[in-house]
Amino acid sequence: MIKLTDVKKSYGSGKNLFPVLKGIDMDVEQGELVSIMGSSGSGKSTLLNVLGLLDSYDSGKYLLGGTDMSNLNETTAAQYRSKYLGFVFQSFNLINFKSAVENVALPLYYQKVSRKERNAMAMDLLEKVGLSEWANHLPSEMSGGQKQRVAIARSLITKPRLILADEPTGALDEQTSREVMDVLKDVNKEGITMIIVTHENEIAAMTQRVIRLRDGHIESTGR
Ligand code: ADP
Ligand code: MG
Repeated sequence: MIKLTDVKKSYGSGKNLFPVLKGIDMDVEQGELVSIMGSSGSGKSTLLNVLGLLDSYDSGKYLLGGTDMSNLNETTAAQYRSKYLGFVFQSFNLINFKSAVENVALPLYYQKVSRKERNAMAMDLLEKVGLSEWANHLPSEMSGGQKQRVAIARSLITKPRLILADEPTGALDEQTSREVMDVLKDVNKEGITMIIVTHENEIAAMTQRVIRLRDGHIESTGR
């Protein structure tokens, strides 16, 4: 589903050129549950942002579902993102003045799905992550683990094939982290490919394969 060949990316330019991805080769099969580990600053978020078409790369090749992702313009990248990709972030990125069900339904607003249909789908997903009773609550009324489950439900509403999660348990305690990982594992069991960035061994151990990133290189692919 994903194949990167010698992907490089630097920030800055000229004398201040700062290489972050120094020639990444990696592939992920459809249906895999993979983690990417590495110390802070090793380029994990940069790699995930490249995979998620949130950021561009300088050279190399990225095939997503067999299609070359080089030189996409922003409109095309946005179309791929909304069709194929779901995102989960450490800080949840929920909209504070919208209820749980409104947050989950929001991505469909941009796809011109009727309000009734959006809300019905969002309610189904909230039920799936165990939060039916919390549908009309605001994020500020929910715990970190609940907020992350809302964010997972939101990531699913566009029926993505691939979910990219950047430190999804980074702001949660151990017990809650495990609960959130269980939800992500259930989602993966339904066939959605999942890539989870983490620097925690316990989280990586809950995935099928650990890709280790070190100083902009893949240190090991876990195969
Ligand atoms: P990680 O997620 O593994 O902690 P990042 O991918 O966020 O690492 O960052 C890798 C390196 O790139 C870090 O040294 C960081 O400071 C630098 N970096 C990240 N984003 C930017 C940016 N937008 N501009 C300049 N440097 C950046
Ligand atoms: Mg990061």
